[in-house]
Amino acid sequence: MKDFDYSIRNIRNVGIIGHSGSGKTTLTEALINYTGGSDRMGRIEEGNTVTDYDPEEKKRQISIQASVAPIYYNGIKINLVDLPGYFDFVGESIQGMRAVDMAMIVMSASQGIEVGTEKAWKYTEKIKLPKAFYINKMDRENADFDRVFELLKEKWGLKIVPVQYPIGSEKYFKGVINIVTRRARYEDENGEMTEGQIPEEYREKAEELREMVMESVAQTDEVLLDKYVSGEHLEDSEIYDALVKGCVAGEIAPVMCGSALEKKGMKTLLEDIIEGFPSPELAIPQKARDLKTDEVVYIKLTEESPFSAIVFKTIADPFVGKISLFRVITGEAKGEMNVKNPNREKMEKLSTYFHLKGKNQTPADRVIAGDIGAVAKLSYTRTGDTLSDPSMDIIYDKINFPEPVMSLTVVPKTKGDEDKISTGLTKLMEEDPTFVVERDPESAEVIMSGQGETHLEVLATKLKNKFGAEVDLNVPRIPYRETIKGTSDVQGKHKKQSGGHGQYGDVKIKFERRADDADELEFVDAVVGGVVPRNFIPAVEKGLKEAITEGILAGYPVIKLKATLHDGSYHPVDSSEMAFKIAASLAFKEGMKNAQPILLEPVMNLRVEVPEEYMGDIIGDITKKRGRVLGMEVSEDGDQIVMAEVPMSEIQKYSSELRSMTQAKGEYKAEFARYEEVPESEVNKIIEKTKALKEGK
Ligand code: GDP
Repeated sequence: MKDFDYSIRNIRNVGIIGHSGSGKTTLTEALINYTGGSDRMGRIEEGNTVTDYDPEEKKRQISIQASVAPIYYNGIKINLVDLPGYFDFVGESIQGMRAVDMAMIVMSASQGIEVGTEKAWKYTEKIKLPKAFYINKMDRENADFDRVFELLKEKWGLKIVPVQYPIGSEKYFKGVINIVTRRARYEDENGEMTEGQIPEEYREKAEELREMVMESVAQTDEVLLDKYVSGEHLEDSEIYDALVKGCVAGEIAPVMCGSALEKKGMKTLLEDIIEGFPSPELAIPQKARDLKTDEVVYIKLTEESPFSAIVFKTIADPFVGKISLFRVITGEAKGEMNVKNPNREKMEKLSTYFHLKGKNQTPADRVIAGDIGAVAKLSYTRTGDTLSDPSMDIIYDKINFPEPVMSLTVVPKTKGDEDKISTGLTKLMEEDPTFVVERDPESAEVIMSGQGETHLEVLATKLKNKFGAEVDLNVPRIPYRETIKGTSDVQGKHKKQSGGHGQYGDVKIKFERRADDADELEFVDAVVGGVVPRNFIPAVEKGLKEAITEGILAGYPVIKLKATLHDGSYHPVDSSEMAFKIAASLAFKEGMKNAQPILLEPVMNLRVEVPEEYMGDIIGDITKKRGRVLGMEVSEDGDQIVMAEVPMSEIQKYSSELRSMTQAKGEYKAEFARYEEVPESEVNKIIEKTKALKEGK
């Protein structure tokens, strides 16, 4: 590190992604340890890895957040960004991918392509992030490089290029051949490390693969292609340069291999990261909007221009406060700086910078373009925001976070904890843009919506560990409604003669369904001849408006109602606003009863995207859930899209259900469509349940 020349060409940012359990965290750990960044390699099982430091990660043995670990090797700083593979934490992965120039998709040599591998591919394709594959666990039973390589080629074709090849496999896995440099590194029979020529029995295979590599890279450049076709010698450096170009153009995805657990193949892997992965200046430029012209521009990463950066992650730390992780796109962060945040239209002050390695902070004098840094205690900035020199007028493309798909209510375990909970939730929302917290005005419940049950459970645990507030999570109440199917014309009369001043109000009101089906009460004043005096008519309307907040079936608000006040009578002394309000509510109760009252339930528009083979199950399940399939389409990547309408009460746990029905390959969105009559068979169940809930209170 002492003789490290801190410049953009000496930086690599690698996002480690892939299926849960493929070995991402172990690989990060192995690379840290191999490059001298730790005395002992941490183990998932022992909960002592650098990147899975959160208590929840230790408990669940999965990564739930993106974390950064810089390593130094041969004069190059490599920022490893370990991204969670578990689907509930996709938001973290998406944030982290904004900070890297290359994704390394980790796979297991015995499992091959898994759901997480496909998702990683799809997402990196979507955001045009260059990628490589790392076939891990070469030491495991059934590890088979050739098979996995063939699967990758079958699935993604010509882009897949082998730049490494394993020496042995399963318990005989010894090391790795660098196909470009024709260099082998392995342990021989005596456990001695050998570095040098390719063993005799692998030469033919290695040459065949090298031919494949050259053929692919030659396509990236005409001069190179000419040289290759005419049989001229290509230097290793020429091949590597072309490889970088091919990766950045999205035409090549190199394949590497090794065993993270046994730390075999690390040197070759580091060599390929340094030579074959783009430095930030060669990486894809960042999409931004020019605020003056409102046009899309692409900004190259460079140390030259004034400072600009993207905040890709926020950590809410109960002790330190808010930590914002940013990646510098242009210029550098150095010393005290006043920068602007165009997303919030505010100025922020930057002063002390640091680098994070897992949870540990190392102070930094400056953070240059291409590198990842952190600052504490920004006032306004949130994840996804741009920070820039005041002279600049750009805003970097917003990170596209997935919409929340599942909601649960947050109920304090201890009364009086409400404030703690709401502060905690606000802080956690700054950390994680994939969940939202709202208060349901009707039920007064606090509702938390996120990516799935595990996501919400982890948030609840964070609330406890970080903010000392324990909560229960429940399924939210369904916002049922009531209305009428028929019509009625009734009288509401309130007459009281007790002691001094009496009370007298008398109305005749016709109740029917609104013709335009709108939800609000439609009140029509059809009184003639002053039978109900002008000054009491607003009281009648007010009385009705109050009355409809509680229907007569199960106490839910009444919607789509039209009430026509057409007759009534008054008393010159005893009539009052209050008396007419009461008369109106009496009329309402009577009128509802006589006009076929019904219960309404919210119905959702459901859009499910699944691979073809799950279609039958999905449609069957929708039917079982009292749903209606409206249509089908084929998505861009060949999946099936099913559009349907399903009652809200049937899909409150759909995110978990869909996951288990489709091995996590399905995705869905649901939004409110309209209210529909609850079928006869369900009405009594709902009325009973609501009653029980009320009595429980
Ligand atoms: P992640 O979820 O992708 O971060 O995967 P982890 O790093 O948590 O690893 C999942 C499991 O696979 C752990 O039990 C690791 O010890 C194990 N593992 C990781 N890499 C290797 C490897 O190269 N060989 C073998 N045999 N096991 C490995």
